[in-house]
Amino acid sequence: MMEREWLDDIAEFLQDKALLQRVLAPKPQRAEEIGLFGKTLADETSALPALGLAKPRSRCPACGHVLRWHENVPLLGWLRLRGKCSACGTPIGLRYPIVEALTGLLFAAVAVKFGAGATTLVYCAAVALLIAAALIDLDTTLLPDNLTFPLAGLGLLAAWLGWTPVPLTDAALGLLFGYASLWVVAYLFYLLRGMRGMAEGDFKLLAALGALLGWKLLLPIILLSSVVGAAVGLFLMLARQHRRDVPIPFGPYLAGGGLAALFFGNTLLGLLLPSLSA
Ligand SMILES: [Zn+2]
Repeated sequence: MMEREWLDDIAEFLQDKALLQRVLAPKPQRAEEIGLFGKTLADETSALPALGLAKPRSRCPACGHVLRWHENVPLLGWLRLRGKCSACGTPIGLRYPIVEALTGLLFAAVAVKFGAGATTLVYCAAVALLIAAALIDLDTTLLPDNLTFPLAGLGLLAAWLGWTPVPLTDAALGLLFGYASLWVVAYLFYLLRGMRGMAEGDFKLLAALGALLGWKLLLPIILLSSVVGAAVGLFLMLARQHRRDVPIPFGPYLAGGGLAALFFGNTLLGLLLPSLSA
């Protein structure tokens, strides 16, 4: 859905005659050609069948069989079908039940830790957003604003309403420092190595985690995610001869660090910076 939106945006830019003229001023002919290509792209994207989260309904990617409600029940649906489409028998990826089980386990852990109340609802929503963001980053090396912005908004709103134990000032500072700290690290890296190590999406995700958990937990999150990220990166380079110029998404490590901070924040802080822990 996001990638379609981007293509739509690109098609729109390509048809913006004034923009093309400003950028390609000495080449009016080129601007004309690019505008025509933009029109073709727009026609092609608008001819695609509709795609949304709820519509069209979940279906088998192999045969198009629309799932009945009981086939779509998290985890249980997959188990009852024994991991195969009921219409064509094509195996259903293990990823579905694993993600569903992980989400359920984390929801349960949040409920056990924070009890029946608003805090648990807020953190469950955050867990769901973090899992989706981490996996999308793993697949595409992109962290969608559609996930990081709601997470940041949720953090600020929950702090404002007193639904999380984070004071609003701490949440607001977490948003600012979360963005700024990674931006500085990425800029220094760029000066030293002449290439981008992290992208905008990573800054936004850490900003969102700062808004959710408060600025004090930013340091443990950054430390945890960099240490684990560096270890895995090194392992991948050695084991699979991963090329150093191929980007390794940082989002999954940030999300993991954020989850660790959500559950063990004060313990971690007590170990790192005893003067800041509550
Ligand atoms: Zn099927």
